[in-house]
Amino acid sequence: MNKDGHVLNGALLAIGLGVILSVDPTSGPLVGGESGAVTLDAAAGLAGETAVTVVELSLPVVLGALFPDVDTAFGRHRKTLHNLPVLAIFLAFPYVFGNLQFVWIGVATHYLLDMVGSKRGIALFYPFSPTEYNLPTGVATSSEWATKVTVAVTAMELVVLALVHNYVFALDTSLAQATNVIGTAVGL
Ligand SMILES: [Zn+2]
Repeated sequence: MNKDGHVLNGALLAIGLGVILSVDPTSGPLVGGESGAVTLDAAAGLAGETAVTVVELSLPVVLGALFPDVDTAFGRHRKTLHNLPVLAIFLAFPYVFGNLQFVWIGVATHYLLDMVGSKRGIALFYPFSPTEYNLPTGVATSSEWATKVTVAVTAMELVVLALVHNYVFALDTSLAQATNVIGTAVGL
């Protein structure tokens, strides 16, 4: 996937994730009174909360989505910065240093997009193995399909994230906690 695709994916993901984290379908914050009508105050409050979350997520997620391709200039492309050990560092970083909280989301989505949205795979276990892993769905990076694939992959990610958030565990409370759990697991 090219830079445009990664920026588009990161930006759409941040917007979608901002909405997912702000809307709680179980508590129905928009429904007011016995009439069940949507109150303006509640709607305005939710819109404000969503906007703040989108801003909070967008810069770190887009930066994370661009980061792995730094290895086009430094190291071996699709290997040096396209692997699970690098992702583990980004997951552990907030726990150890207290910053870069959402960058790992961008790095993770970059890997997925490279695997799904291009012909060439990525070396998930580099530097332990140079083997590149790919999914058979790949289309050429320059293909006219590249943007459609990017949007489709993002939509799929958001569906999965929304299902996890609403039925498995709340992503906003767990992002920091999950980082802590992983940090503990790797002995940091
Ligand atoms: Zn890449």
